[in-house]
Amino acid sequence: MSHTEDATTENLLTARGLQKSFGTNHVLRGVDLDVRRGEVIALIGPSGSGKTTVLRSLNGLETPDAGLLELDGGPHVDFGAEAAGVRSRTWAGRRAAARTVKANRAALRDRSAMVFQHHNLFPHRTVLENVIEGPTQVKRVPRATAIGRAEELLARVGLADKRDAYPHELSGGQQQRVGIVRALALSPDLLLFDEPTSALDPELVGEVLTVMKELADEGWTMVVVTHELQFARQVADEVLFLDGGVVVERGAPARIFSDPAEERTRRFLDRVL
Ligand code: ADP
Repeated sequence: MSHTEDATTENLLTARGLQKSFGTNHVLRGVDLDVRRGEVIALIGPSGSGKTTVLRSLNGLETPDAGLLELDGGPHVDFGAEAAGVRSRTWAGRRAAARTVKANRAALRDRSAMVFQHHNLFPHRTVLENVIEGPTQVKRVPRATAIGRAEELLARVGLADKRDAYPHELSGGQQQRVGIVRALALSPDLLLFDEPTSALDPELVGEVLTVMKELADEGWTMVVVTHELQFARQVADEVLFLDGGVVVERGAPARIFSDPAEERTRRFLDRVL
């Protein structure tokens, strides 16, 4: 088996040639990604470089115009072929393409869970109700089982005593930790983080990063869009530097941060470090 095949078969998720435009704005220009089980990947790069769009493409929140996504044991999605199907001249062709898109998106979403920049908790539901919503409604987990698991996860992030609190009664850092617990409660194969600390006051960032680091140590597979370069340096197994919708450079954080090969990476790091 070739080296490439070897690498691909270990992957939990493989993305190839992802392309996405919003109107005339060509945001992703062919992005490849290999996520191996238990690995933490950090996506870094200037604002507008396409990091969030990559992340959202991985769980079906965005549909790329072209490219492939393959989840181990799950869907293999060829977005180019689907887009062609959606443009199909026959009604049956369009309907079949739409069904495939929907099924693949559902399958992708089913296997991953996203932690957003803003926690998106339901304001009129307690912490516990927020956490069990996904498992009971989406995954059809029995309520008692979901509550037991939620309590366990809340205890793990130091929030056992907040189970009956409402989101507005929590600090931003606590809210975001509940957001993480809500993602974990879905028992996903892949955790996606979209700048989870960038909306927080600086003094609250540490507690969220600590939880993320613990999850990495426990072996969760994570893709993290982050401006926290120290975190990327300490926790990530691989760092991808994006600029202008392409991966300019990828590699081990120790190398990327100390000895970037590309001028664009060097300029970015000089600016932000
Ligand atoms: P980053 O996460 O690196 O800051 P994004 O992926 O959020 O970059 O955005 C890349 C580009 O795509 C930006 O120019 C942004 O304005 C644009 N964009 C992102 N989402 C949408 C959308 N839903 N509609 C239109 N433009 C979008």
